[in-house]
Amino acid sequence: MHRSAYDIALEQFDNAARYLDLPQSALVTLRETKRELIVHFPVIMDDGSMRMFTGYRVQHSIAAGPAKGGIRYHPDVTLDEVKALAMWMTWKCAVVDLPFGGGKGGVICNPKELSRNEMERITRRYATEIACMIGPMVDVPAPDVNTDPQVMAWIMDTYTMHSGTQSLAVVTGKPVEVGGSLGREEATGRGVMITALEGLKAQGLSADHPTVAVQGYGNVGSVSAYLLQDAGARIVAASDSRGGIYNPEGLDAREVLRYKHRTGSLVGYPGATPISNAALLELPCDILVPAALEEVITAENAPRIKARVIAEGANGPTTPEADEILWDRGVFVVPDVLANAGGVTVSYFEWVQDLQSYFWSEEEVNEHLHRQMMRAFHQILAISREKGVNMRIAAYIKAISRVAKAIQLRGIYP
Ligand code: NAD
Repeated sequence: MHRSAYDIALEQFDNAARYLDLPQSALVTLRETKRELIVHFPVIMDDGSMRMFTGYRVQHSIAAGPAKGGIRYHPDVTLDEVKALAMWMTWKCAVVDLPFGGGKGGVICNPKELSRNEMERITRRYATEIACMIGPMVDVPAPDVNTDPQVMAWIMDTYTMHSGTQSLAVVTGKPVEVGGSLGREEATGRGVMITALEGLKAQGLSADHPTVAVQGYGNVGSVSAYLLQDAGARIVAASDSRGGIYNPEGLDAREVLRYKHRTGSLVGYPGATPISNAALLELPCDILVPAALEEVITAENAPRIKARVIAEGANGPTTPEADEILWDRGVFVVPDVLANAGGVTVSYFEWVQDLQSYFWSEEEVNEHLHRQMMRAFHQILAISREKGVNMRIAAYIKAISRVAKAIQLRGIYP
């Protein structure tokens, strides 16, 4: 039977909840999302025709603060996927101690077939449709797959037009000229880099010159790759949706990115051998960074994975069965809710800066991020060692306890 992403999110929740003595109220509340909005809306395409689009916004929990989570544009977006991603955001915010709950949004569309003008019209109409559910103190979206700072600027502008007041803090991941934070674009990859290297050290391995394979060369994958390279790593393989490239001698991560920008893909990059996305995951390397989509590491390929550390740039790349296999084989998995929490952490900094209209230097942002990621990593490592559980269960234990406590303290209204 096919399990949806939400089934997997629930399974992960249940796996961790077993270790906790949770009050019934928290257990029941946290297995459900709080709000789910489905919108169908028309958009005029460049050729003058009209097309209907479907979008979602889900809030999983707002017990710890406003909902927080990205917006994904992808042909395969489903309500179930958005629900799972919203739940993961609740845990992620709690893992890094942010005063946010979890939310997520998505629009079923294929950005590769849309012009910039069509993207703008879809975004502004979608933002209008979900305006009843978002707001600086309510629910604060951010970029996810196929959405970027420009899309966030359109959402902020649309929301501001409707509300009549400058609402910079309604979304994060904006360009710096319209209230974005310095360091935001690199934040997720920076967190991946920090936690991947800490993962190696936790394994008793040297973090000086590790070899790295990266699946997905978008915002998260490419930044993780060049920051790891800056930290001394050798990037041996990288991929995007069209395929991968491999060079055991090392690829220049920034050169690969420029090539991808120039040609639209990294396939065909000179001086590298073509490799499939499936084969990339099984390459001999120290660090594997899945940074594309969900469920790529499964019970089928987990026994063949050779990396010593997997730093989950993507959300949900590892299935629960694969998790167990990797744990038994001694592969150290830095779970998504920790590894890619750098993005939401700097989103939080951006929100704080917007609300205060006082902006920090990039050094300050990076310094705060480093401190927050290191603290979360070592708290979770301590739980993992104390309870003898993997890092995902340990992260969930920390996160669920925190959110459950918030639910308990707030009580049940009325
Ligand atoms: P992106 O759109 O910038 O990049 C996605 C990359 O994955 C692209 O290079 C694309 O070609 C590649 N890809 C798509 N399908 C693929 C496939 N089947 N096989 C291999 N590669 C494929 O998106 P992003 O923002 O980098 O997000 C990537 C992942 O990281 C997602 O799971 C997202 O939820 C997660 N994430 C992103 C952020 C962020 O700040 N951007 C934060 C936390 C988590």
